[in-house]
Amino acid sequence: MIPLSPTSLKTENWQQQLADAYCQIEDLLSALGLSEFYRPEMETAAEKFGFRVPRYFAALMKQGDINDPLLLQVLPVSAELVPTPGFTRDPLDDQAAHVGHGILHKYHGRALLITTGSCAINCRYCFRRHFPYADHLALRDQWQPALEQIRQTPDIREIILSGGDPLILSNARLAALVHALENIPHLRRLRIHTRLPVVLPARIDSQLLELLGSTRLATSMVIHANHSQELTVELEHALSPLREAGITLLNQSVLLKGINDEASTLVQLCESLFSMGVLPYYLHQLDRVDGAAHFAVDDVTALLLHEDMERLLPGYLLPRLVRETAGAKSKQTLHRSQNQKNSFQCDQRHHNHLT
Ligand code: SF4
Repeated sequence: MIPLSPTSLKTENWQQQLADAYCQIEDLLSALGLSEFYRPEMETAAEKFGFRVPRYFAALMKQGDINDPLLLQVLPVSAELVPTPGFTRDPLDDQAAHVGHGILHKYHGRALLITTGSCAINCRYCFRRHFPYADHLALRDQWQPALEQIRQTPDIREIILSGGDPLILSNARLAALVHALENIPHLRRLRIHTRLPVVLPARIDSQLLELLGSTRLATSMVIHANHSQELTVELEHALSPLREAGITLLNQSVLLKGINDEASTLVQLCESLFSMGVLPYYLHQLDRVDGAAHFAVDDVTALLLHEDMERLLPGYLLPRLVRETAGAKSKQTLHRSQNQKNSFQCDQRHHNHLT
């Protein structure tokens, strides 16, 4: 068995850690003392959406626990192979929102730039698990058309770097992109959606800090943690200089059956996030992507759970329970109807909330 320890990785740089990630299911299960749970169908599931887990993240999983909440997020299982009505390859119709050159323009004032198709980790519930990145990437030598398009759209105030995971780009490539964006006068804000700090805190290195701390664009970083077990001293040390550099830190989670679908689990996550300077931002209902139906929590359960959280947390630590709907002008907040306690609907009044 290969010993796992997050602290033993301290001396390696992030690219080395990325290269050393687990890419064989059997290796990870063996390292966790779970070889007996290996099944060939896991490989079939991984053929549809690859398997990749950084050793740092694997080291946060409990030995000998096949139901570990971090392991369940990344372990391919046969349930992914079962077609489920209502679960599709492109649940948010990102293809329709694609306006060209890797830009998705769904919501007023903001545009999302697909910078890469790669991630440090492959989360089994990912709504872009079938996304045809090759057709949409704003690759290095394709950035000029995307930048030109943004330049010609003055109502875009904020650029969201997405992917894949934008922090998988080298510092040099990120710097070239950020500097080019800075030169577009009507842009005011830069937002980075990334899971990398959570799964590989070493990614927040001095060059990245220098870049993000010096841009004229008001910068926020939206990290992605689903369970307090993902919040470590290493992560806290990585985030602290970002905060000191004036970067707003937010978190989004996905509500996942069997992983974080209890109020106490999510309350602990929100409180731990705040203690490291991160505000809970969104709790997403699962996007109905083919292969992820086994993670779905129904709306009634989600709303009752969110009500429990509301009782237990101060308002500023309560993430908004939202669903993204193809074609809608913003994310939709789920709320429980006051008049019909047993019926639920999406609240359209919050259309101007942050995306
Ligand atoms: S890191 Fe984000 S984009 Fe990448 S697989 Fe996980 S959820 Fe999807």
